Amino acid sequence: MCLFCKIVNKEIPSNIILEDENFIAFHDINPKAPVHILAIPKVHVDSFDQVSGDMMQKMTHFIQNVAKEVHIDKSGYRVITNIGENGGQEVGHLHFHILGGAKLRWGHFSDADPQGHF
Ligand code: 5GP
Ligand code: ZN
Repeated sequence: MCLFCKIVNKEIPSNIILEDENFIAFHDINPKAPVHILAIPKVHVDSFDQVSGDMMQKMTHFIQNVAKEVHIDKSGYRVITNIGENGGQEVGHLHFHILGGAKLRWGHFSDADPQGHF
C-alpha cells in the first residue's frame, strides 16, 4: 500500500484539515510556504495523468473548500500537481499542493534552456 493510502487509512498519522467521503487534506510534512497542504483522493490514483474528469470536478470543489477553511481564498494561493519523473513527483498517489499564506515566488523550474524545446 502506498504512503498516501496509509495516510487515508490513518495507519500513518497526519495533520488533517478537511475530509469528506472522497478526499482528504492534510499539512505537508516539509512545508515550502507558510501554508502548504496536500489534497488527495481517498482512492488510489497514480497521478493527474490518470485522473477522471468526474473526479477532478469534485476535487476542484474540495480544493476550493480547503482554501476557504484555512482562510487563503481571498489572499490567493497556488495549486500544483507534479506528474511523473520530469514533473518531480515523489509520491505516486495523486496529490495537489495548495500553497499560500505569503506572496509566492515564481520560479526558474529547470536548468534546461526554457526556449530550447519548440
Ligand atoms: P511530490 O514531490 O510527490 O509532488 O510531493 C510529495 C510531498 O509529500 C512532499 O511535499 C513531501 O514533503 C510530502 N510528504 C512526504 N511524505 C509525507 C508524510 O509522511 N506526511 C506528510 N504529511 N507529507 C509527506
Ligand atoms: Zn495510494
